[in-house]
Amino acid sequence: MNKIKSIGILTSGGDAPGMNAAVRAVTRAAIFAGFKVFGIYRGYRGLIYDEIEEFSTQNVSNIIQRGGTILKTARCKEFQTEEGRQCAYDVMKRRGIDALVVIGGDGSLTGARIFANEFSIPIIGLPGTIDNDLYGTDTTIGYDTALNTIMECVDKIRDTATSHERLFFIEVMGRDAGFLALNGAIASGAEAAIIPEISTQVDQLSELIKNGFRKSKNSSIVLVAESPITGGAMGLAQRVKEEYPEYDVRVSILGHLQRGGSPTAHDRILASRMGAAAVDALLDDQRNVMIGIKNDEITYVPFTKAIKNDKPINQDLLSTLRRLSI
Ligand code: ADP
Repeated sequence: MNKIKSIGILTSGGDAPGMNAAVRAVTRAAIFAGFKVFGIYRGYRGLIYDEIEEFSTQNVSNIIQRGGTILKTARCKEFQTEEGRQCAYDVMKRRGIDALVVIGGDGSLTGARIFANEFSIPIIGLPGTIDNDLYGTDTTIGYDTALNTIMECVDKIRDTATSHERLFFIEVMGRDAGFLALNGAIASGAEAAIIPEISTQVDQLSELIKNGFRKSKNSSIVLVAESPITGGAMGLAQRVKEEYPEYDVRVSILGHLQRGGSPTAHDRILASRMGAAAVDALLDDQRNVMIGIKNDEITYVPFTKAIKNDKPINQDLLSTLRRLSI
């Protein structure tokens, strides 16, 4: 017997383009299925402080094309304490919210897993992060848009790099995952990507220099994943200045540019499918799973798997980048 009558939706952690499309899809699919829907503002903070509004289909009109999240997002330390989660649970009971859909990254889904286990609440997660670092899904909501933004930025930087015959390190986000750097490098025709997954195996900078980059080119662009493991673009530029002073090196850090903007068609469709699938999962008595996509099919990934496992980099991509940058 499915006793769920009302669903709360929240977005949490770092924002990602496509979160609005996901909020819209969950809201509409839930109302279509006969559920009451509550929008919870500012992630887990809004759950603790009761910043909650009942949503109708109109609340999510005209948002599919907008970046960011209309529900706002926040990082909430209190939710990491038992007392904080107890408050959140009490608010849910008082409001009559029976189940949650949490849209966010690794941290948000970790919080969801703990909360669901403590209070036996059905929670479905949607992977909302530009980093693409959740296991069990080919892509996450926001990743494709961020990749396209990176590609456009690199295209522009290339004009300057070519005119001045320089080596450019362009730092992209990824939080210890190289997906944006590696696929961004392939998409923009960059020379190389320096990513954390490989940093522990080889010194990627000395490999790059050793392989004789720039021999036949008049500029070089290298994408660097922001991570203490890679040293980041600044760290690598410093190393070049000290170890290879013959090179004229410049750094560009793309930063928050990568999070913004209207979501691509890919992200809107992904978010719409995943949002509808989250409601299907609740109807199907599923709980504590993240909605994933594998070979264009929706999958249910247990939270523990999605969070704990490191998502491996596809070695084919590395090989492709190497072969195409000669
Ligand atoms: P993201 O979801 O983008 O990875 P964060 O790592 O900042 O972002 O996590 C977002 C929020 O999720 C945190 O502010 C906190 O409220 C909650 N959260 C993260 N880790 C935990 C945890 N171990 N226990 C409870 N809540 C957590």
